[in-house]
Amino acid sequence: MGYQWFEPVLSAYSPREFYFSKFRDRGDPMDFTMERKLRVGISACMYGSKVRYNNKGWDMLEPLGRERNDFIWHPVCPEVLAGLGVPRDSIRITGPSGSDVWKGEAKVMSSGGREVTKSLMNSSEFCIKLLKEARIDAFIYMEGSPSCGVYRTTLRDKRLGKPPGVFGHKLLEEAFFLIPAADLQSPLRWWDWRRRLYAFAWLKDAPLENKADLYAIWHRMKFVCQEVDQVNARAFGHRIANLEDPMTSGQLEALRFEILMMLRKPSTPARIKNMLWKNYTHVRKKLGQDVEGINKPEDERGITKIAEELILMERVAFENDILMGTTPISNRGRRGR
Ligand code: SF4
Repeated sequence: MGYQWFEPVLSAYSPREFYFSKFRDRGDPMDFTMERKLRVGISACMYGSKVRYNNKGWDMLEPLGRERNDFIWHPVCPEVLAGLGVPRDSIRITGPSGSDVWKGEAKVMSSGGREVTKSLMNSSEFCIKLLKEARIDAFIYMEGSPSCGVYRTTLRDKRLGKPPGVFGHKLLEEAFFLIPAADLQSPLRWWDWRRRLYAFAWLKDAPLENKADLYAIWHRMKFVCQEVDQVNARAFGHRIANLEDPMTSGQLEALRFEILMMLRKPSTPARIKNMLWKNYTHVRKKLGQDVEGINKPEDERGITKIAEELILMERVAFENDILMGTTPISNRGRRGR
């Protein structure tokens, strides 16, 4: 991936009240489909709003086509909400990163020399409040911004700041499911984010009352977790195999949180391609026949073609009630595609 994965501030807060305050209605057996529209926050300039300092914005959702209607969008712009206006001077962080701003060890200055630290901190907190009240399932951020950036805070490598940005720090702190807007331009990367997003959104609200629930959930989630984070997924599997019963709700929620954090990690094209073939051989065996249109791992093809094959595999698996392990939660029932 073009950015670095890391977990800078997860120990500093408890996300449980946000993630797990919803329903506990049991519907046995567990339903592994997602019927509702997901709620997704997004940096407003990535939604097409011309709110950047230079009066620009881009519709980064355009490649999704009709699929954008599967989501409810919540655009926010911390800099506009800080009262900085459009157009405005660009801003920079005086210290290493936006996290230092929250520690009181760095300031935010406009290129005209005006300090805007307090305004941007206030508006970032306000945006987080809005997004939590909207109960978003994910946030799509503009990488490179000193406000919304998460893994980079400047766009040119020569001017690298240390991530995250001021608002990006808060996004990480809340443990949102975070998607870089640039990845929406790649069919394969978007496919990877989307299947993990549905798994994440389903799991954060899933019933989890005992060890049997945990095992059922892990049986469903383990394939994608092993793909994106093999070391942690293996260790997790061994650990839960030896758990005492009964378990407290605190223990269960801590384990849920571990799976959620694994689901936030992106895969790679090589691993996706490898798993596509494993899924295919599994589905072919269950069906007792080949599926037209799936190429072997050694066949050369571009990422767009691979993404098409993955969507085909998902459809065939769903229509034949076969689990495609690396897409654990289906939204196809609602979409009917
Ligand atoms: S990156 Fe964030 S703060 Fe900057 S214009 Fe876009 S939404 Fe606003």
